Amino acid sequence: MQAAVFHAPKTIRVDTVDDPRLEHPRDAIVRVTATAICGSDLHIYNGLFPQVRPLVMGHEFMGIVEEVGPEVKNLERGDRVIVPFPVACGGCFFCTHELPTHCERSNPEHYGPEGDVLSQKGGGLFGYTDLYGGYAGGQAEYVRVPYADVGPRKIPDNLGDEQALFLTDIFPTGWSGVHWAEPKGGETVAVFGCGPVGIMAQKAAWLHNASQVIGIDIEPYRLEMAKRTAGSAVIDAGEQNPVEAVRDMTEGRGADICIDAVGMEANRSFLHKTIAAAHMERGTIDVLKTALSAVRRGGVVSVLGVYGTSHDRFPLGQIFDKGVSLKAGQAPVQAHVDQLIELVAADKVSLDDIITHRLPLSEASHAYDIFNKKQDNCVKVVLTP
Ligand code: NAD
Ligand code: ZN
Ligand code: ZN
Repeated sequence: MQAAVFHAPKTIRVDTVDDPRLEHPRDAIVRVTATAICGSDLHIYNGLFPQVRPLVMGHEFMGIVEEVGPEVKNLERGDRVIVPFPVACGGCFFCTHELPTHCERSNPEHYGPEGDVLSQKGGGLFGYTDLYGGYAGGQAEYVRVPYADVGPRKIPDNLGDEQALFLTDIFPTGWSGVHWAEPKGGETVAVFGCGPVGIMAQKAAWLHNASQVIGIDIEPYRLEMAKRTAGSAVIDAGEQNPVEAVRDMTEGRGADICIDAVGMEANRSFLHKTIAAAHMERGTIDVLKTALSAVRRGGVVSVLGVYGTSHDRFPLGQIFDKGVSLKAGQAPVQAHVDQLIELVAADKVSLDDIITHRLPLSEASHAYDIFNKKQDNCVKVVLTP
């Protein structure tokens, strides 16, 4: 089959690789009908997460069940499914506590309680390096889905692929960022980043009855997209100090909830890159620091953007003085996805309006390049095998 294979930083090629086979009685094979590139894929593409051997990329995918193992009783050939990005067994301590990204069984080689930089990670993720289980991903014609009796969700016929696809990751992720803050309604939610995740978080904020939703970015075309698809007020952090702007919109207090949907690959100067490298830091925590300034006293900062290492000068004193709650992590997709499928099927939210590029899988290499460089007003690419 054809698949987008990571070979080295900036080198993802569509290669012919072996078709996946059932390896365990709980596996299924899914024929992929739509798959997307995520901002998280860029951390591998840009070399911030290491991967030595070639690996099929992709953790946002859906398709048609082709084959099921003997222990998969809930699916049959021909079912149309979305597959949550965390590989999770459904039965361990964490899976039974709605924490599927911390599954104790899906990443046996590199799992551990410490969660440190390069050895002890959480549960497996599709197409996300050997440190996360080494599972071949879904930017491919076919994919092996482990624990298929608990992961994949059947999709109602009235949902087209483009509406359903983002239920695998970015919509549940944006939703989690808001949900972690336990909003009661009436909050101001400021979202740093108007990429796919940030825009989904903004949509989710309205669905949690926010009174004000603010999107912040440095790319004018992405701010336009946030305004148009999420109806947010926007701040161009390239033009304005975003902390002052958020305070101006909140009677000087700051936002009730700030969401970091940028992560370690925020823009930064050459000097900053050099200093960070000397400290063994990957990327920067600038956006997280900005969010901690922009949140009000007693507020919540949710960190959806990915960070991979420790960082110096983490503002613990500020967090303490302001009494800020901080919550971070990979999104527990399985915990929210059923409710979110219903919301999308009932037309309470539309997800496909952020798609800017529809390309055949064979053009994956070009797709990575334009998404990474933010060329051609690219916000979200959907690939079709
Ligand atoms: P993306 O790279 O398309 O979006 C990032 C956005 O941040 C871009 O629009 C960029 O212009 C903006 N940005 C860069 N520097 C900025 C700054 N200083 N101030 C404000 N905005 C700035 O990626 P995405 O797909 O939207 O993903 C965003 C982050 O979320 C990534 O780190 C990704 O890995 C992560 N992610 C996490 C989860 C999870 O489960 N927690 C799931 C999916 C993605
Ligand atoms: Zn993702
Ligand atoms: Zn588990």
